[in-house]
Amino acid sequence: MTAKLIMGTQVNEEILKEIEQEVASIKKERGVVPGLVTILVGENPASISYVTLKVKTANRVGFKEVQDNQPADISESALLALIDKYNKDDSINGILVQLPLPKHIDEKKVLNAIDPDKDVDGFHPVNVGRLMIGGSEVKFPPCTPAGIQELIVRSGVNTQGAEVVVVGRSNIVGKPIANMMLQKGRNANSTVTVVHTATKDLASHCLRADILIVAAGVPGLVKPEWIKPGACVIDVGVNRVGEKISEKTGKKVAILRGDVDFEAAKEIAGFITPVPGGVGPMTIAMLMKNTLNSLKFKLGIA
Ligand code: NAD
Repeated sequence: MTAKLIMGTQVNEEILKEIEQEVASIKKERGVVPGLVTILVGENPASISYVTLKVKTANRVGFKEVQDNQPADISESALLALIDKYNKDDSINGILVQLPLPKHIDEKKVLNAIDPDKDVDGFHPVNVGRLMIGGSEVKFPPCTPAGIQELIVRSGVNTQGAEVVVVGRSNIVGKPIANMMLQKGRNANSTVTVVHTATKDLASHCLRADILIVAAGVPGLVKPEWIKPGACVIDVGVNRVGEKISEKTGKKVAILRGDVDFEAAKEIAGFITPVPGGVGPMTIAMLMKNTLNSLKFKLGIA
């Protein structure tokens, strides 16, 4: 193997420790801690497990955590009223509504009702606009793209003038990470190309990339011959390709595969993220960072 592994599991731990220390010092100096509310509607098992992990992490870093579980048949107006309540609650700095919501609720309406200054997921149009403008306008970069940028930078990969190719143009990964990497600044300033399903020659674009970010949701899409020797390869894809029995628990677990042919790619790339254990663990760390920053903006210490 030639590539250096970029382990999100390790970086996630580093960031959580940094947040924990900062929360403790703000608490000591100012007597306040960041407040995060996680709103879960219904009992979707995947949503329950994501929320459980978010709650556990928020508690671990010393936040005030409010877990607000609502029944699947809550009306849209009742959910909007709940968001309004948390918008006005001074002890809450971040509001997270776990998606997906039941079909009778308009997700867009709900996300747009969150106060943009408490929108720690960064999905509100105001925060999408702030991200587009860049610089000091940016308050809450969306968590998965922010995690990707953090992995690149903490690995010591030079982004200045680098050719970045992003595979995928979704609103939650492809478009925001492309936008973040082209901004002026220390951790970006790259030349960015976005490729997608209508791109004519995917391979030739990927082969130019100093930093290749793949978020297509197609297992093994990126072949080793599409990778420039020494490139930094960030595989965002998380694809369930089967099931196996876990050696640890004896229970059935999903077999996960990324969008990059990892085994072959690691012999060519300079840096590469594994799946699982690469980008995945970073999303929650960045959610915690956004919530801490929300309090810091409010206190004028960001
Ligand atoms: P999406 O389906 O919304 O978007 C996929 C994008 O990839 C689209 O823009 C599409 O044009 C492009 N695409 C699809 N097939 C392609 C192909 N054959 N050639 C070129 N482009 C192609 O998906 P998403 O929400 O952006 O997620 C992408 C992947 O990242 C998924 O596997 C998802 O599970 C994973 N993901 C992981 C995390 C995390 O680890 N925290 C977070 C979000 C998404």
